[in-house]
Amino acid sequence: MTAPAEGAGGTPGDSGPTDADWAAAVAAVRGLSADARVLMICHVNPDGDALGSMLGFGLGLRRLGVRQLQATFPGPPELPESFGWLPGLDLLVPERAAYPDPDLVICFDAASESRLGDLVDRLAVAGTTLVLDHHASNTRFGRIDLVDPHAAATSVLAEGLLARLGVPLDAEIAACLYVALSTDTGSFRFDATTPAVHELAARLLATGIRPGDISRRIFDTRPFGAVRLFGEVLGRARLDPAAAGGRGLVWTVATLDDLARYDQPPHVLESLIDSIRVTAEAEVSCVVKQVAAEEWSVSLRSKGAVDVSRAAVVLGGGGHRFAAGFTGRGSADEVMDRVRAALDGALLPA
Ligand code: 5GP
Ligand code: MN
Repeated sequence: MTAPAEGAGGTPGDSGPTDADWAAAVAAVRGLSADARVLMICHVNPDGDALGSMLGFGLGLRRLGVRQLQATFPGPPELPESFGWLPGLDLLVPERAAYPDPDLVICFDAASESRLGDLVDRLAVAGTTLVLDHHASNTRFGRIDLVDPHAAATSVLAEGLLARLGVPLDAEIAACLYVALSTDTGSFRFDATTPAVHELAARLLATGIRPGDISRRIFDTRPFGAVRLFGEVLGRARLDPAAAGGRGLVWTVATLDDLARYDQPPHVLESLIDSIRVTAEAEVSCVVKQVAAEEWSVSLRSKGAVDVSRAAVVLGGGGHRFAAGFTGRGSADEVMDRVRAALDGALLPA
C-alpha cells in the first residue's frame, strides 16, 4: 500500500501473535513432508507489501528445501513493471494454475477472505492455513493467524517467521522484504516507522541491497503517458472544504477512457493518491478509479483526524485507519456522495 499505513488501530490488547501462535506457525512449516505442496496467496491487486512479503517468504521456504511451492494472487496475473525485477518472480503462477488441493496455504497482507477472490476455495481444502497480516480489521480467517495490527507491514511478520525458522536473510530475500517495508511505511515517513522498523531495515540493508536503486524502480519510475495522464486527472481534482466534518476533502476521478487515451494500464493509477493527499486544505483525500461501467475502486487517505477504514468498512471495504479502500457501484457522483456521508461518521475524537 502506498499509503500512511499506521499499525496502531487495533483494539487494546491486540498485541500481535503469541508465543503459541509463532510456535504453531513454525511447526506447520517444519512438519511439511518432502512432497508437500505449499500455496502462497496475497491480496488482489497486489502492492509492494503483499508481493514483497510473499516472494521474500517464498524464497526463504525454498532455502528450507520446500520444492513444491507456488505464489499467486486473484485476478489478472500481470504485474506493474515496477515489480518486474523482484527476486522470486519465478514462484508466481496465474490463479488458474494454482494447486487445487495444497497441503499448506499461506496468505499475505489480506485482511479477510474476500481479498483472496476465487482463490478463497483453497482455504477449505488445504491441510492447514496460515495467515500473515497487519490489518486491524483482520478477521483471523486462518487456522494459524500471525496478525499484528501494530506491525508496519506484513513483511515484519514474514521476517519474524523466517528468523524463527532459522532462515538467514540474503540479498534476494532482503530485496523483497525491503520493497514491502518501504512501501507500507511510505519510504519510512509514516508514524508506523518505529525504531524496530529501522532495525529491520538495517538488517535488510546489511545484505548489500541498494536502497536507491530499489526506491527508484518502485516509486520513482513511470511511463511518460502516465505522467501526462496524472496531469489531466490532477487538473480536475476538486476540494470540498465542508466535507469530513469541515476538515476538507480533496478528490478526483479517473475513468477507463482516461486510461485508454493515454494507453495506460489501470495499475498506473495506484500512486495517484500520493499526489492528491499532499493538499494542505484537505484532511481526507480520495481517488475514484473506474474498473467497469458502473464499478469504481476507491482509495481513501487521512492525515489523522478521520478513521477512513471506518468509512471504508461502512461502504463494503476495509484497510487501515489512515489508508483504506472499497469498491463502489453506480455513477462516480453517487459513489462520492456515499463517501462524503461515510466520512462524516468517521471523525476521530479530538
Ligand atoms: P489502496 O488505496 O492503496 O488500494 O488501499 C489502501 C488500503 O485499503 C490497503 O491497505 C487495503 O488493505 C485496503 N483496501 C483497499 N481496497 C479495499 C477493498 O476493496 N476491501 C478491503 N477490505 N480493503 C481494501
Ligand atoms: Mn500491508
